[in-house]
Amino acid sequence: MLFLHLLLAILAITPLTDARIRRWKCGSTSPTKGFLDGTHYIIAMEKSDAASRLHTREEEPYLPRISFPVVFHILDNPYDIILTEMMLAEQFDILKTTFAAYNIDFYLQSHYYYEQSDWAAGQDYLEMGRQIRVGGYDTLNIYILEIASNKKGPDEEALGISSFPEWSEHIDFQADEFWEDGVQLTLNALVGNPFIDQGPEDEGKTLVHEFGHWLGLMHTFHHGCHPDFEHGGDMVLDTPPQYKKLGSRWPNPDTCHPPGTVQQCSADLGFPPNLVDNYMDYIPDACALSFTKGQTVRMK
Ligand SMILES: [Zn+2]
Repeated sequence: MLFLHLLLAILAITPLTDARIRRWKCGSTSPTKGFLDGTHYIIAMEKSDAASRLHTREEEPYLPRISFPVVFHILDNPYDIILTEMMLAEQFDILKTTFAAYNIDFYLQSHYYYEQSDWAAGQDYLEMGRQIRVGGYDTLNIYILEIASNKKGPDEEALGISSFPEWSEHIDFQADEFWEDGVQLTLNALVGNPFIDQGPEDEGKTLVHEFGHWLGLMHTFHHGCHPDFEHGGDMVLDTPPQYKKLGSRWPNPDTCHPPGTVQQCSADLGFPPNLVDNYMDYIPDACALSFTKGQTVRMK
């Protein structure tokens, strides 16, 4: 830490905070029909698997360990290289440590630096992917930008954005979807960034959230209250539906809620209380602590 303070003093860089900008946790777009078709197909498999486990009295679904190569692309780094590499290492460690609990592993394949201020500002995302994306669909490409590519408005920015997996019989490696596959993480959400007031998104969990999207998870509030899990909430059996994001927008987020204290869908209609610590909700990093078993199965 002393080293970090010395470095900051030497660099004499002032915080790059713009109070006019409202930051959202995530700008991941609505899943496509191709994604939803795949999700319904997977739900059918999950139901069949659950039925077979009931028959054989197995309690746990088979969850193999899976591992992903990770490639960081730093598009136009405004900071010192040494400091940036420290932040990248810490961010990767958070990803690896968090998902170790779910038997999902990562290894750092490589990281690249570019001087591309237009890409760093979220422009020409498809062209950027065509030029620098690495590996197949099993490679997690993480783009570190100043501004994510689909700003919601002139005064609104998303901290991170992810593509969703697409259901397809045949992989088309020339399709736009392939080149756009990956996760965008802004410098605002890169853990340990001392140059920005990160508010409650300061523990590096935006990347955890975005990786959940990358493996097919939706927001817990995505489809709202519906008695059938296939059509409500995030379409996962053990995540109670909710109709809106639990946290509000940065910089005035809700604080953490105790379990059982938030009920957005009617208890009279049989809905259980909201989850209050799920990575796929919009909540401050300090409150985000878990994926459910159903979400873990879905990711696998
Ligand atoms: Zn999201």
